Amino acid sequence: MNDVIEKISKTISETGKVVSEKTKLVGESARLNSRILAKEGVVRSNYSAIGEFYYNKYKDAPDADIADTVNEITEALNAIDEMKAQILSLKGAVKCAECGAECPIENSFCGHCGAKLIKPEPPKEEEPAEEAEQTETEESPEAAEAAEEKPEVLEGEVIDTDKTEE
Ligand SMILES: [Zn+2]
Repeated sequence: MNDVIEKISKTISETGKVVSEKTKLVGESARLNSRILAKEGVVRSNYSAIGEFYYNKYKDAPDADIADTVNEITEALNAIDEMKAQILSLKGAVKCAECGAECPIENSFCGHCGAKLIKPEPPKEEEPAEEAEQTETEESPEAAEAAEEKPEVLEGEVIDTDKTEE
């Protein structure tokens, strides 16, 4: 009788040992996995910082093999700028390109720094309103519109509002 009890209790304690070792392994793996995640976050955010550094330094003359990526960023930033301007104009405001102040859209000059306010383009359709002259090239409608209101600005230096201070 004692023998049987001894056997059973031995089995139980060995099973317990195995279970607790498994638990330990699982716990250790989970800890390592979460440390891996944290390190991967460090890698990603630093990759991103390098990308931003590179972009700001070389956006006007990127290496050929990364030019597409750089240009995609520029296009996206331009689009963001344009949409932000559209939101402002929905609010009846315009942002001063010099100091960033929001000014009433009917003003011609910034009430804070006196800079001339650049009015946003009206939200545009794919097709230009007038036909004939602009049908020659695909990208001319935008370019033509841009030339009217803010020459050069759309070409790549758009976002750099600090530029004039340099
Ligand atoms: Zn201003």
